[in-house]
Amino acid sequence: MTPDTDTFSIRTLIEALSATVTAHAEELSALDSAIGDGDHGVNMKRGFDAVAADADAISAKPLADALKAIGTKLVMTVGGASGPLYGTLFLALGKELATSPGDYSGALRKAVDAVASRGKSEIGQKTMLDVLYPVADAVGAAQPKAAIVAVAHAAAEATRDKRAIRGRASFLGERSIGHIDPGARSSALLVEAVAGVLP
Ligand code: ADP
Ligand code: MG
Repeated sequence: MTPDTDTFSIRTLIEALSATVTAHAEELSALDSAIGDGDHGVNMKRGFDAVAADADAISAKPLADALKAIGTKLVMTVGGASGPLYGTLFLALGKELATSPGDYSGALRKAVDAVASRGKSEIGQKTMLDVLYPVADAVGAAQPKAAIVAVAHAAAEATRDKRAIRGRASFLGERSIGHIDPGARSSALLVEAVAGVLP
């Protein structure tokens, strides 16, 4: 997955992200109802609607600045635990690409590390990181897009058997087992949407 704004448009990317979040908002909130407070889909839709509403201004920017603008918008609008975390993901991606243009897999790895640092969390705790780290690994190994998307969905599915150690779901302890983590599911959906617009 090598982004290159000569071959895809930031506007197309924004539209794809916002469309998948809208299409799956109810599903994400239902997953969050099982082990959280039922707002993950609503939170994500509010955030990505706000990004889509600003698509003209954001897509006029160079890629690194556009990613930072998306991150800032998500921090301001998503709310919950996931808002600052997804905001950090996009902000850090933009920051890393501004520092090391063209190093997409390195930027993704550092951005996922930034999410972990922000969330004081790590892989295996039944969060979005359980998807983001395997995806960063697959991107780092230059896997084809279809394989990266498959890794993302399998990793989200695998959170079902885990016990939550971070986030609201951790309050349920053992009772969090048996349900897919909503943030892991939304991460897999975002990865699929990104893969769908990249060449
Ligand atoms: P809230 O839990 O505040 O209602 P959301 O429902 O929008 O926020 O998001 C919940 C998701 O956020 C979880 O499913 C999980 O993937 C992710 N999450 C929560 N806390 C953390 C954390 N400390 N590190 C990484 N991800 C987290
Ligand atoms: Mg919630």
